[in-house]
Amino acid sequence: MSLLVVGSVAFDAIETPFGKTDKIIGGAASFIALTASYFHKKVNLVAVVGGDFPKADIRMLEQHKIDVEGLQIKENEKTFFWSGKYHDNMNSRDTLITELNVLGTFDPIIPDSYQNCDYLMLGNLAPNVQSMVLHRLKKRPKLVVMDTMNFWMNIALDDLMETLKNIDVLSINDEEARQLSGEYSLVKAARKIMTFGPKFLIIKKGEHGALLFGEDKMFFAPALPLESVFDPTGAGDTFAGGFTGYLAKTDDISFENMKKAIIHGSAMASFCVEKFGTEALINLSDAQIEERISKFSELVQF
Ligand code: AMP
Repeated sequence: MSLLVVGSVAFDAIETPFGKTDKIIGGAASFIALTASYFHKKVNLVAVVGGDFPKADIRMLEQHKIDVEGLQIKENEKTFFWSGKYHDNMNSRDTLITELNVLGTFDPIIPDSYQNCDYLMLGNLAPNVQSMVLHRLKKRPKLVVMDTMNFWMNIALDDLMETLKNIDVLSINDEEARQLSGEYSLVKAARKIMTFGPKFLIIKKGEHGALLFGEDKMFFAPALPLESVFDPTGAGDTFAGGFTGYLAKTDDISFENMKKAIIHGSAMASFCVEKFGTEALINLSDAQIEERISKFSELVQF
């Protein structure tokens, strides 16, 4: 089973009440691919960076057995840059800078060796680029999962609606679900969004967990209560990486197995927020991951 991850590979500069970073490796696809690599050994990456992107960071991805044949390096251009600042309660943030740079003209070329992928994770990117990926795959994957954000709802809604027609699972946060549906109730929002195309919808609620809708069923997983949340950047992408990595590993796309995948995604997101950027995702052991997952079981069993 192969998993194809497409999305931004970026420089992020983050400010939280606990500190500030210079440009560090970020981007939706970095978080997703790194996280999925703990569950699945065949993670293929399609993304683009500029000549300014450190080779050491590419090697770090390779050390996680992520195939980077599909990572384009535009030597004379600059890597996508995003900067955000969190408010004191860490539940909301302001985007300070979005410089698309190489992402503005991204042409997602899919290496032949990535064709026939079984699972496709379309991370946060311009929706027309996400559609392009789907059209360039000669065989439709067994499951197409997609993430997006308010930025694209604001500037590319028509493209987004078109892309939604062709995917299976959409993963967005509560604010985005409300914006996309025009409904405040998340149950009504979910029902409406699923008429746009996705058969399943995940609504992430930050420290309040995540909801899964589909097949007329609903599932809720809490977020692990943590003593300190250091930096929530990438938590949603990490969640998506755990979700898709687990599904690809188990190769079972039933609602029941998606519930387990949600728990795996939530467990991985709980690591992500403990350090800046991708730092907490670099050196995890299987034992640490197992321990987190069993904490989740204890948390919800009664
Ligand atoms: P999250 O905290 O899950 O929303 O993800 C944050 C990551 O998304 C950061 O690493 C950013 O580099 C990346 N990101 C932010 N804005 C965009 C965008 N417009 N397109 C693609 N990736 C983005």
